[in-house]
Amino acid sequence: GGSGSASTIKQVKLERESELRIEVGNDAPLRFRLLDGTAEIFGTELPPQIWLNFPPRLKFAVFTWFGATIEMDGGTETDYTADETPMVSYVNVHAILDGRRSRAKASSPDDYESSQGPRVIVVGPTDSGKSTLSRMLLSWAAKQGWKPTFVDLDIGQGSITIPGCIAATPIEMPIDPVEGIPLEMPLVYFYGHATPSNNIELYKVLVKELSGMIERQFTGNAESRASGMVINTMGWIEGVGYDLLLHAIRTFKANVVLVLGQEKLCSMLKDVLKSEPKVDVVKLQRSGGVVSRNAKVRQKARSYRIREYFYGLSNDLSPHSNIANFSDLFVYRVGGGPQAPRSALPIGAEPAADPTRVVPVNINRDLLHLVLAVSFAKEPDEIISSNVAGFVYVTDIDIQRKKITYLAPSSGELPSKYLVMGSLTWLET
Ligand code: ADP
Repeated sequence: GGSGSASTIKQVKLERESELRIEVGNDAPLRFRLLDGTAEIFGTELPPQIWLNFPPRLKFAVFTWFGATIEMDGGTETDYTADETPMVSYVNVHAILDGRRSRAKASSPDDYESSQGPRVIVVGPTDSGKSTLSRMLLSWAAKQGWKPTFVDLDIGQGSITIPGCIAATPIEMPIDPVEGIPLEMPLVYFYGHATPSNNIELYKVLVKELSGMIERQFTGNAESRASGMVINTMGWIEGVGYDLLLHAIRTFKANVVLVLGQEKLCSMLKDVLKSEPKVDVVKLQRSGGVVSRNAKVRQKARSYRIREYFYGLSNDLSPHSNIANFSDLFVYRVGGGPQAPRSALPIGAEPAADPTRVVPVNINRDLLHLVLAVSFAKEPDEIISSNVAGFVYVTDIDIQRKKITYLAPSSGELPSKYLVMGSLTWLET
């Protein structure tokens, strides 16, 4: 039963192959449970009878293949049932990928080509449901016992770590509908900006570094290799965004390209990739449940994401405020400020600043409120090729005493004294 008089319990009966789409309210959390039948949230099955708590603002769907009754308690922004979903086409894709994984597993591990499972990349405009489809494919695969690698190339709204990064992590269990991707051991490269146009060259270099690292991991791990990867991308599909998609497809040697809800993008990709015979380009329908987010909502989501890194989803982490001397830390940035587009220069001229030059930065008040990455680099010139251990948030700069105060996930010494800055700021609220 509910708690107190404000309780608003209701039961919803879902017919087979339909879903309940929910937007949790802004301040009130929501809880619900599966009373009867079977249902899943983005590919992860719900446990029967157990109340699950959903934080404010979460948007999701409870889908059932065979019918279910659920019980909800709490406020929602919206909730409605839909019986038209693209789920059957999505699960068919999963079945094909599953077959390819089994074939890869059955091949001799010495045959690097045929023992390689599917490398799926999900592309489409913003708010087409890319992250959600990635998540379903990963959870369905994990349920079947595979350990697919999730790669998130979306520096704006990625789901592995804070914004401004590209990252990868193995998925060993269906993804928790509330907690999201487990943060145990992601491989993270810090780009430092929420849009790729700040430094396109650097973005490409980091994509290459990440893919090289995964390739090396696959070499030593037949299970991961047979499970393959699912790669989520940014919603930027025009002009340079399109070039970056092609770059990602080729760099990761993707062999299945899933295009969500975009006729034009699909035919363009089919056209250029037809000379690369082992790549399947498949068009999939966008779900009517995908919620559009405007620029302000996206900005807010980025801010919540950074907050979550330090404080946890439900304030369950206690970050530590640390003080260091200026001389103890070395801060770098990559590239020389915003890059001039070639088109803005006289014909034949090269942009002056090298976009991948690592530049030392003087510690001053400009660093205030920036989120900095803690690099695993041992030398400054390794910064671009190194992944990062985590992040700190600069809360005070005392010029006179030459002290910097920062928030870190824990107390104690940082894993490295090399910090990397970009344009990623955060205002703690
Ligand atoms: P993209 O990655 O293409 O930008 P997302 O997959 O992140 O899009 O989807 C945008 C938002 O819509 C997310 O908050 C997601 O949880 C929500 N969403 C996706 N599919 C559904 C659905 N079927 N019902 C309700 N909400 C959904």
